[in-house]
Amino acid sequence: MTEPLLKINSETCIACYACVRACPVKAIRVQSERIKPGIIPERCIGCGSCVAVCGPGAIEIRDSKKELIQILESGKEVAALVDPSIAGEFPDITDYRKFVTMLRALGFEYIQEVAFGADLVARAYKELFDKSKGKYYIMSNDPVTVSFVEKYSPGLVPNLAPIDPPNAATARVVRKIAGKEVLLVYISPLIASKDEIRRFDGDGRIDLAITFVELRELFKEANIHETDLEYSDFDPPLGYKGSFFPVANGIIQAAGIEEELHLTPVITVEGDGMIDAIKEFEENIGTIKHHFNLFYKEFLMGRGTSAGGKRFLRQSQLFKYVEKRLKTLDSYEWEASITEFASLDMTRTFKADDQSLPLPSESKLNQILEEIGQANPSAVGCGGCGYASCTDFAIAIAQGLAIQEMCNTYASHNRQNHIQSLKISNEKLAQAQEALKQSERLAQKEKGAAREASEIVRRMLHKLPSMVVICDMNLKIIQTNDSFITMLGEEAREINEVVPGLAGADLKTLLPFNFYNLFTYVLKHNESITNRDIRHDGKILNVSVFVIEKNKIVGAVIRDMSAPEVQKEEVVKRLNEVIDKNLSLAQQIGFILGEGTSEAERMLNSIIESYNLKQDLKNR
Ligand code: SF4
Ligand code: SF4
Repeated sequence: MTEPLLKINSETCIACYACVRACPVKAIRVQSERIKPGIIPERCIGCGSCVAVCGPGAIEIRDSKKELIQILESGKEVAALVDPSIAGEFPDITDYRKFVTMLRALGFEYIQEVAFGADLVARAYKELFDKSKGKYYIMSNDPVTVSFVEKYSPGLVPNLAPIDPPNAATARVVRKIAGKEVLLVYISPLIASKDEIRRFDGDGRIDLAITFVELRELFKEANIHETDLEYSDFDPPLGYKGSFFPVANGIIQAAGIEEELHLTPVITVEGDGMIDAIKEFEENIGTIKHHFNLFYKEFLMGRGTSAGGKRFLRQSQLFKYVEKRLKTLDSYEWEASITEFASLDMTRTFKADDQSLPLPSESKLNQILEEIGQANPSAVGCGGCGYASCTDFAIAIAQGLAIQEMCNTYASHNRQNHIQSLKISNEKLAQAQEALKQSERLAQKEKGAAREASEIVRRMLHKLPSMVVICDMNLKIIQTNDSFITMLGEEAREINEVVPGLAGADLKTLLPFNFYNLFTYVLKHNESITNRDIRHDGKILNVSVFVIEKNKIVGAVIRDMSAPEVQKEEVVKRLNEVIDKNLSLAQQIGFILGEGTSEAERMLNSIIESYNLKQDLKNR
């Protein structure tokens, strides 16, 4: 695939959309997924306006220097076709003949001035206009104008003058002189020439177009300077008034067409007005009744020339150069050459390439206008988006050429909304931070309270006369109390000195199987065991093992049944159990025994009381 004429370097592009504003045919698209613009090659007419306004120089022109070097090194004969506007580009070269020698030094065999081709073309136009009866033409020397007609006013394609431009006419001349095999390079002031030459074929074929700027760079790279070189002239045939071709009405003069305003059959328009002129031609040619000579830019100021050139300075340099050339021109020889090449076929054809895009429906247009906050747009917009009016901008959005964000009003409104939403989120963030701090404070407080509570429980646990032990699923001790450690004996007490509470100790090494097996059972079945009496170390221990966390943690309360306080408590408890059991039986047989049952209860209560009394006395 051929490289496009222009492309935007997204690394250096700053998305200022100056190029969108400058593009006369809206060939630069901005899509929502890519904020950076992109050139649509099919829509581009190669005018170069975007290149001129791009501050960061992000728009790159297809480079032709490498290709030129390949052509020059191909071993074939190569001819340079030099546009006469070169005189305005190289004021630093004091004599044009030095310039010709510099081209020879680069490797060109033939150096041909396009002015002679312009002379031939001028004559062809004179003939066409003289012969035309009621049909009016748009002159086709400017590739930008031709491209515009084909793409944006395709209905006028039949009105494009079917005559070669001067470069293609010169190509035919050189091929007739140097043979069909010679390779031709057009040195042009326009970037559009790089694509224009592709449409020429046969003897009018041009193999490559390079710009003046590229030629300068090549001279520099090859270290070619006029001071080191002798004079040499262009190869014949030399041009005559065709040398004025770089100025918009130069071709009219060269053709000898009447220029008096009320008599001339041709209207010349140069600059941005070219587009309006084509529209007027389309709408009013029946009334206007003139041929149109159009240039988007005079060649002297084309986009292939160095930036910053002064138009009238360049024009005066061109005139000086032409004057110098004409002084030495042999007019008989020139006439003879014109006669020799007059028979060349310089006809060309054009092809409509309609690039117009469908217009959106009214409802769609109104919807877009509303979305960008321009429900009632004025006829003239602010121009910030690059479109003449808000309606044009909305149409471009509908056509996929623009995005809403390019509108300053929309962007600023969005910015305000964005700032507002940022404010709200900031406030929410501050509130959340405060809430977080508060909950941290609360958590600290709760942690402190829990620590305190845990300490109290731990102390209480240690003071309990009953033995307490808590262990995990591997029967490793998590917590014990002093009573439990005392029950285990001297060795356990010593370990307690080093590892407080025997934390981590294995219950299996401290208790016999029948004892620790109660823990294993409870861990496995999640079923508590209460009041199980176990003999251990000559004592009867009453053991209750209960689930603290299913299958993970169990705890046990162990009471030494031989301890005095336990004995008293236990006797009371067990007597109460006897009373309870007998009470229900007594109630059932009460009606038989009468007062007998109440007597039995009284007797049992007196045993309890007498036992309590004895114990109290003993304790005193
Ligand atoms: S003019 Fe176009 S290419 Fe250049 S920086 Fe601006 S948006 Fe990018
Ligand atoms: S060269 Fe001209 S037509 Fe092409 S994108 Fe640039 S401004 Fe538009």
